[in-house]
This record gives sequence, structure tokens and C-alpha cells, in this order.
Amino acid sequence: MTPTLQNRCNDSCELCSQKADSFQVYTIPPKVDELPENQVVLCNTCFNQINSNNFTDTNHWRCLTGSIWSEVPSVQVLSYKILNKINAQSWAMDTLDTVYLDEQLIEWANAEEALEASKIIHKDSYGVVLETGDTVILTQNLNVKGANFIAPKGTIVRKIRLVPDNAEQIEGKIGGDTIVILTKYVRKSS
Ligand SMILES: [Zn+2]
Repeated sequence: MTPTLQNRCNDSCELCSQKADSFQVYTIPPKVDELPENQVVLCNTCFNQINSNNFTDTNHWRCLTGSIWSEVPSVQVLSYKILNKINAQSWAMDTLDTVYLDEQLIEWANAEEALEASKIIHKDSYGVVLETGDTVILTQNLNVKGANFIAPKGTIVRKIRLVPDNAEQIEGKIGGDTIVILTKYVRKSS
């Protein structure tokens, strides 16, 4: 732990205030730079629950009603994130309602989920996730534009490539030509 963090946390977990002999330094995603302003010093109890994304021990997290008012922005951000995960608890919702966080900090707190939501995921006609290199089977006849050729239903297309910016398109070779195929017309081959 860096001296800055050591000074800041004062030998206590920055969320639940528990004193301990050993601490974990947690960098709040999506930030990756291991700078004190991106980090929170946590006891093992807090760290393990955050790391396993398991917030069912809501009683433990009552500590957030205090830590959300921390002078340390990263501690506020982490508290805010967790409170949002357990906002089915009325006290957590009440806390979120009363707290005021800078817009910038709220953005940081929400950034991880926003990133997750914006990820482009390719799925076949059955909703199965497709990956580059997969083999797929056409679920209907496909008119291969420009090639004056119909690829019949059941055609196997090996080693597909995902079109990066379009979740509805993959590329694959049919009859020697690489063509764009719509994901809704394929089924992943197991
Ligand atoms: Zn703790």
C-alpha cells in the first residue's frame, strides 16, 4: 500500500471502518490506473464481496450509509455503486436519495455498467452467443448477392468472423467467397 493510502485509511477499511492487520487495495473499474484517487482500501470482508459481486449480506453494507459521506471521492463512488446494487433495500434507496455526488463521480460509478451495456454481442437465431472462429449452419436459403448463387439451408460455414460494429452481422466463406451473413439466419454448430 502506498504511503498516501496508508495515511488516508488510518488502518481502517474505508467502507466499513473495520480495523485489520491486512487490507486489500481495490481500484474501482473501469479505471485501471493504480493511483490513490482511483482506489479504496478495503478489509477482506468488503473486498471479497465486491470481488465476487455478491451483495446479499445487506446488513454488512449498512456501513455505506456512513462511507457515502466520505471526503474521499473514490470511497463515495464505490459506496454509491454498491448502494445501487442493493437499492431494493429501502434504507439504501433512502441514502441514495439524500446524498449529493458530483456529476463526474456519478458518471464514474455508472461507467462499468454502461460499458457492459454498450458491448456488441453477436447471437445466433436461438440467442446463442457467437464468437470468431465458430462454425455455423444456415437456417434458411441464402441468396449470395453478386455471386448469382443460393447457399441452401443447412450449409455449414466454418471459422466465422464477427463484424465488430454490428451485432447482426458475421462474415464467413461460402463457395470460396467471404460474404456477410445475418446472425438471425444462422445456428451455432455444436
Ligand atoms: Zn470493510
